[in-house]
Amino acid sequence: MRVKCPECDGDIPIPDDAVPGEIVPCPDCGSEFEVYLKDEGGVELKPVEIEGEDWGE
Ligand SMILES: [Zn+2]
Repeated sequence: MRVKCPECDGDIPIPDDAVPGEIVPCPDCGSEFEVYLKDEGGVELKPVEIEGEDWGE
Protein backbone atom coordinates (compact mmCIF):
# COMPACT_ATOMS: atom_id res chain seq x y z
CA MET A 1 0.00 0.00 0.00
CA ARG A 2 1.23 3.49 -0.75
CA VAL A 3 0.19 6.82 0.68
CA LYS A 4 0.98 10.30 -0.58
CA CYS A 5 3.48 12.20 1.51
CA PRO A 6 1.80 15.30 2.94
CA GLU A 7 5.08 17.17 2.69
CA CYS A 8 6.43 16.43 -0.77
CA ASP A 9 3.59 14.48 -2.45
CA GLY A 10 5.87 11.52 -2.93
CA ASP A 11 4.82 7.93 -2.48
CA ILE A 12 5.41 6.44 0.95
CA PRO A 13 5.29 2.63 1.08
CA ILE A 14 3.23 1.37 4.00
CA PRO A 15 3.84 -2.18 5.21
CA ASP A 16 0.78 -4.41 5.04
CA ASP A 17 1.22 -5.17 8.70
CA ALA A 18 1.56 -1.55 9.74
CA VAL A 19 0.01 -0.83 13.11
CA PRO A 20 -1.45 2.45 14.40
CA GLY A 21 1.25 4.63 15.85
CA GLU A 22 3.96 3.13 13.71
CA ILE A 23 6.44 5.65 12.36
CA VAL A 24 7.18 5.55 8.65
CA PRO A 25 9.77 7.73 6.96
CA CYS A 26 9.23 9.32 3.56
CA PRO A 27 11.95 8.04 1.23
CA ASP A 28 11.85 11.26 -0.76
CA CYS A 29 11.99 14.07 1.80
CA GLY A 30 12.94 12.18 4.94
CA SER A 31 9.99 13.42 6.98
CA GLU A 32 8.57 10.96 9.45
CA PHE A 33 4.87 10.26 9.86
CA GLU A 34 2.73 8.35 12.26
CA VAL A 35 0.35 5.75 10.84
CA TYR A 36 -3.34 6.10 11.63
CA LEU A 37 -5.87 3.54 10.47
CA LYS A 38 -9.08 5.16 9.32
CA ASP A 39 -12.42 3.71 10.40
CA GLU A 40 -13.60 3.41 6.81
CA GLY A 41 -10.41 1.63 5.87
CA GLY A 42 -7.18 2.90 4.50
CA VAL A 43 -4.35 4.67 6.13
CA GLU A 44 -3.74 8.27 7.07
CA LEU A 45 -0.38 9.81 7.89
CA LYS A 46 0.17 12.45 10.51
CA PRO A 47 3.38 14.37 10.95
CA VAL A 48 5.43 13.35 13.95
CA GLU A 49 5.65 16.29 16.30
CA ILE A 50 8.87 16.46 18.21
CA GLU A 51 8.02 18.42 21.30
CA GLY A 52 10.08 19.55 24.19
CA GLU A 53 13.31 18.85 22.43
CA ASP A 54 16.05 18.94 24.98
CA TRP A 55 19.65 18.74 24.00
CA GLY A 56 20.78 18.57 27.59
CA GLU A 57 22.63 21.86 27.44
ZN1 LIG B 1 8.02 13.35 1.55
